[in-house]
Amino acid sequence: MTEETNKSSSNFIKSIVDADNESGKFDNRVHTRFPPEPNGYLHVGHAKSICLNFGLAAEYGGKTNLRFDDTNPTKEDVEYVESIQEDIRWLGFEWDNLYFASDYFDQLYDWALKLIKDGKAYVDQLSAEEMREYRGTLTKPGKDSPHRDRPIEENLDLFERMKAGEFPDGAMVLRAKIDMSSPNINFRDPVMYRILHAHHHRTGDKWCIYPMYDWAHGQSDSIEGITHSICTLEFENNRPLYDWFVENLDIYAPQQIEFARLNLSYMMTSKRKLKQLVDTGVVNGWDDPRMPTISGMRRRGFTPESIRNFCDMIGVARANSVVDFGMLEHALRDDLNQKAPRALAVIDPLKIVITNYPEGQVEEVEVPTYPQDKENTETHIVPFSRELYIERSDFMEEPVSKYRRLAPGREVRLMRGYLVTAHDLVKDEEGNVTEVHVTYDPETFGGFAPDGRKVKGTIHWVSAEHAVPVEVRNYEHLFTAENPSEAPEGEDWTANVRENSLTVTTGYVEPDVADAKPGDTYQFLRNGYYVADPDSEPGKPVFNLTIGLRDTWAKK
Ligand code: ATP
Ligand code: MG
Repeated sequence: MTEETNKSSSNFIKSIVDADNESGKFDNRVHTRFPPEPNGYLHVGHAKSICLNFGLAAEYGGKTNLRFDDTNPTKEDVEYVESIQEDIRWLGFEWDNLYFASDYFDQLYDWALKLIKDGKAYVDQLSAEEMREYRGTLTKPGKDSPHRDRPIEENLDLFERMKAGEFPDGAMVLRAKIDMSSPNINFRDPVMYRILHAHHHRTGDKWCIYPMYDWAHGQSDSIEGITHSICTLEFENNRPLYDWFVENLDIYAPQQIEFARLNLSYMMTSKRKLKQLVDTGVVNGWDDPRMPTISGMRRRGFTPESIRNFCDMIGVARANSVVDFGMLEHALRDDLNQKAPRALAVIDPLKIVITNYPEGQVEEVEVPTYPQDKENTETHIVPFSRELYIERSDFMEEPVSKYRRLAPGREVRLMRGYLVTAHDLVKDEEGNVTEVHVTYDPETFGGFAPDGRKVKGTIHWVSAEHAVPVEVRNYEHLFTAENPSEAPEGEDWTANVRENSLTVTTGYVEPDVADAKPGDTYQFLRNGYYVADPDSEPGKPVFNLTIGLRDTWAKK
């Protein structure tokens, strides 16, 4: 990646904006919008779209609207309207205007009347099945509905009665009259309105006909004076229809531009499927830390900066591809490494007893809190005493070769404490080591021997008496498959859900960390980054593993 692209200085959408500014197409205005449907929580794919739309406007001194595309009342909910706003703000963006497509229902209805009067729309009573049959296929042209040439007066009458609620759901639709033999299937008399006797979270029971996406979207953009209407690639074939509507209504015409949606390995980016995971209890809600939702990532310990940086790193593509999840982790580690205070915590404890250390003695060990920042000399005190916990993996009774940590007869450094040597083991009935007895060299406080003898291994620890037990939630990928939508032979995508992607353990943290409040992030030295969960109570934090320390992507 060159310095240039790294700064997100160029992408094909910016080239389009530059050309439009050059030609004066939009009077040098840049006005984008982010148009979510409030039928679920936002996910990492939406974050890409948010960064793109808000970022582009910011760069050109333009504006961005947040517009809820609320045209499917049965799937939508105010809970989603609220979570979406919270997530956009958390990512660090603020919209210039907040609108709902439902704000335009009256206007859209009037425009539909205009198209009917112009002979460009008609009411059709074909059944859904007949409609499909009449539409034709990619290789076979469609054929005209018998209702296509209904007189204008009759269309007006039927459409008004559709609106008045005289007909049941599905009885008829309003269609644009374009071209049933067009090679572009979207042009084969697309549906503009369907009957749906459903309560809408904003318009209540006022409407029982609702506009289709294609009929609502471009017109909403037009009303708001959007210049560049950025959407994902699957709408490329809808663009001619987008243009047809604004042209035939003779209204202001924005420019639709498509880019490739973000796909990430091991991440599911479909609200519908994510909702299924929530509804079936596979995860504990939309903000479960394993979810690829923005709220889940926030709870997992992602920072807004890490997500924004990631979106910059991957750029804006014109062709679909799958981004390596490791890139997202890389962006996350990079940000946390700079910000997170360091602390001592033992996640999988094994007790050690320093048999020659005075009972009851406590010493203060000074640990730099931000060693990654040369300017910041802040330190904090961690108590050291006779009984400590170390990580179970930092002791081996029969060490394998190259193992540099604690083993019988071996000397290691307790980080910033003393050098200790293991001499005796306590075991349970099954032969598991439950305690390691060590001796310390009192001349080595700080971790160095005055005689200059070399000790290779350094391990972390906490004082058993002073450390605070905490619940630690450890996570793995929610899915076993790199592409979770691709189901194994004969099964559906849910077969890719990993069992036991969450394991809960009790860890021990240094006393200062007991004050952690939800959202506080630490690097537990040698372990990884952890964030206090909203389930934390004062003095009793619960920690989520955000991410381990090893960066596999940077190595590649
Ligand atoms: P989903 O299939 O998850 O419901 P959607 O596209 O239907 O996604 P919308 O609420 O309609 O969800 O999306 C709002 C905006 O976010 C749209 O402009 C859409 O193109 C964009 N968007 C959605 N998913 C992605 C993605 N994976 N990558 C980039 N942009 C996306
Ligand atoms: Mg959608």
